[in-house]
Amino acid sequence: MEGRIGVTSENLFPIIKKFLYSDHDIFLREIVSNAVDATQKLKTLASVGSYSGNAEDLKVRVKLDKDAGTITVSDNGIGMTEEEVNKYINQIAFSGANEFLEKYKNDANAIIGHFGLGFYSSFMVSDKVEVITKSHQDGAKAVKWSCNGSPEYTMEEVDKDEVGTDIVMYINEDSKEFLDENRISELLNKYCKFLPIPVIFGKKKEWKGEEYVETDENNQINDVSPAWTRMPADLEEEDYHNFYHQLYPMADEPLFNIHLNVDYPFNLTGILYFPKIKNTIEVQKNKIQLYSNQVFVTDSVEGIVPEFLTLLHGVLDSPDIPLNVSRSYLQSDSNVKKISSHITKKVADRLQEIFKENREEFEQKWDDLKLFIEYGMLTDEKFYERALKFFLLGNTEGKKFTWEEYENLIKENQTDKDNKMVYLYANHHEDQFSFIEAAKEKGYDVLLMEDPLSTHLLNALEQKYPEKRFVRVDADVVEKLIPKADDDKEKLSLEEKNELSPVFQAIVPNGKGNFIVDFEDLGETANPMVITQNEFMRRMKDMSQMQAGMS
Ligand code: ADP
Ligand code: MG
Repeated sequence: MEGRIGVTSENLFPIIKKFLYSDHDIFLREIVSNAVDATQKLKTLASVGSYSGNAEDLKVRVKLDKDAGTITVSDNGIGMTEEEVNKYINQIAFSGANEFLEKYKNDANAIIGHFGLGFYSSFMVSDKVEVITKSHQDGAKAVKWSCNGSPEYTMEEVDKDEVGTDIVMYINEDSKEFLDENRISELLNKYCKFLPIPVIFGKKKEWKGEEYVETDENNQINDVSPAWTRMPADLEEEDYHNFYHQLYPMADEPLFNIHLNVDYPFNLTGILYFPKIKNTIEVQKNKIQLYSNQVFVTDSVEGIVPEFLTLLHGVLDSPDIPLNVSRSYLQSDSNVKKISSHITKKVADRLQEIFKENREEFEQKWDDLKLFIEYGMLTDEKFYERALKFFLLGNTEGKKFTWEEYENLIKENQTDKDNKMVYLYANHHEDQFSFIEAAKEKGYDVLLMEDPLSTHLLNALEQKYPEKRFVRVDADVVEKLIPKADDDKEKLSLEEKNELSPVFQAIVPNGKGNFIVDFEDLGETANPMVITQNEFMRRMKDMSQMQAGMS
């Protein structure tokens, strides 16, 4: 039998090839995931008693035949009758592909690069595709559908013993790279590593003497029940660690993990890990892998989760994230928004939980967590609100306080004349050492905020709380700020004054409205000396340094 696919455009196949050129390796993902779907459907039918045949040992096989120039994907799943091939392959699959191209033909750049074009994506790499299939239904006859990329196709009855489907792709001239075993392994590893049904590619190989030799054992490329698909109660800490190393074999141990498991009002599973983050330069963004029903989609979750969460590692799996749309569309999608704020909440909850249950551990890991939390607070209002409970301020003594604890600590003796609380901070422990010591001697506490992000956060806090003051420990206002302590400040003795007088003599105007200090002349006296700087000037300088660092 011959037929014509329900086409609106004669040129569909050239268009498919052209549009998808940059991403043609997804064809294998699409064909293998269809095969997996087919086996799962059969499993479901068997489990409800609608199929009495063999539904054991379901699997998908990928075969490479270099001589014939073909890649074949075979499954022992549900199969299709001739009618079904007509419906699902000639009409439905086609209309999906057609609709997709109609929608995006003027907007190729809007395509994120991964989408479910499905069965027809096989034509990106093939001159001809055959579907040889036998339905699970009683007495069904096997059929072979064949199409060479034009809207014309043929269908004939064939002999096939087993229920299931073979998809044979005759690889085209431009796609010969896929007739290489390593290339196929690479694709399967990328897209199919966690599919729920065994995917077999050839036989396992063993190193014997000087070369790899094939064994009798099937080479299964996937883990059918990766950690994120299992119940948190069934997993040990070790399982989470092992899974992390499955994803990132070279990475350091993660700090914490968060197991996500939501089925309403959207479907979302996954495990997120806090990696060790030492500084912004080292940070590897976008290491989260996004899956849809265990099929790999992308390892760039930008636009799907808030910016600061892209610092996390791990896996998200949601069939509710639309895959065949542009990033800008994704950001406005209501499901994506919900998912994104859910993840933010979960991350904050988890941090709060660890903080409450094991503060010691939390404090120990604070240096690694800090960057992430501060970044989150600066860029995400909701996260900021939540994080105020576990965000830690460290002082120059190495003690850590929550925002509230710190307020209680300083409210007694660190208020200025207007009753504003004064937060003294140092941003360079060594350089400001003498100022820190001087402030401590007066009974003040000094925070240590050495990271650029901490200083950013400080500015944000200051804007948020106009009733508080954040003052750098070497600012010239420190002395005047805190009157209570000021009152019992010891005056300099006459001797001390004499001792310091060279300091004042060494200060000479430079003619530009500033003073310079001649250290050479000072000798020993330079040691106890404290030079204050104008607070405003300091802050401006910090800001400009920070901005330079950010851009
Ligand atoms: P989707 O997978 O999104 O439904 P596809 O274009 O990938 O779209 O596939 C179209 C349809 O073809 C599938 O829904 C299924 O009914 C049928 N099909 C494709 N591959 C197979 C297969 N290996 N076994 C059985 N049916 C299949
Ligand atoms: Mg499909």
